[in-house]
Amino acid sequence: MDMHTTTSYEAFLAARRAEILERIADAALRSGRAVDEIELLAVSKTVGPSEVVSAWKAGYRLFGENRPQELVRKLTALSEVPDLEGITFDMIGNLQKNKINQVLGNARRIHSVSSLHLAQAISKRAEARGLVVPVLLEVNVSGEASKSGFEPHEVLAQAENVVKLDGIRVDGVMTMAPAGDDDAARRTFSALRDLRDDLRVVCGLPLDVLSCGMSDDFTIAVEEGSTLVRLGRIVFDQGYELS
Ligand SMILES: *Cc1c(COP(=O)(O)O)cnc(C)c1O
Repeated sequence: MDMHTTTSYEAFLAARRAEILERIADAALRSGRAVDEIELLAVSKTVGPSEVVSAWKAGYRLFGENRPQELVRKLTALSEVPDLEGITFDMIGNLQKNKINQVLGNARRIHSVSSLHLAQAISKRAEARGLVVPVLLEVNVSGEASKSGFEPHEVLAQAENVVKLDGIRVDGVMTMAPAGDDDAARRTFSALRDLRDDLRVVCGLPLDVLSCGMSDDFTIAVEEGSTLVRLGRIVFDQGYELS
């Protein structure tokens, strides 16, 4: 925040947000979807609490963090700020079992349930605290070795065991597309939607949430059915160039 005054950064955030919302609306229109079924999550992992406050003032309410310690740090700092009405954080990154307790009760939803073991561990801890945690199953749709998540065949085989766990509620699925390849991103998002449709039959749950789309590919994700885009650089980075 040294390079600019808070006010001009807030003006940037608000103008950028309007641009993002317009792009989401255009993509929804192109695919015959209702724009109000698409949530915009601001990924705040690269900025500090004061930038989050600025983003709240610009209209953002839902934020995402990928590390439990940082989620707790932000919540602690923001608890000192009065009147941040409606602000919530989702946990979107890799979650280790020994960090689960930092997230429970702090995150609105966990996007990154990437194995049956992790689901069981969250379930056990949530139950002990009398919580029911909304979660998404992260699926490695693109099959890249660098990505975490269930393999598609694995999630189909294990979903029944996940959804019957107490202490969690499975609301949908999440994925990340390969970077820098629009066609591969589109295939990934549409495969996620197809997989979700199959999982619906297996689980008998609505699984309405499709968490996919980041700064470089969110309009494609919306065209392919995303109900929640997770945007970081395009929200916060003044150097990010809109294409
Ligand atoms: C960082 C991150 C994002 C946002 O990525 P951008 O390309 O900056 O929009 C979205 N989802 C996850 C899981 C992330 O870690």
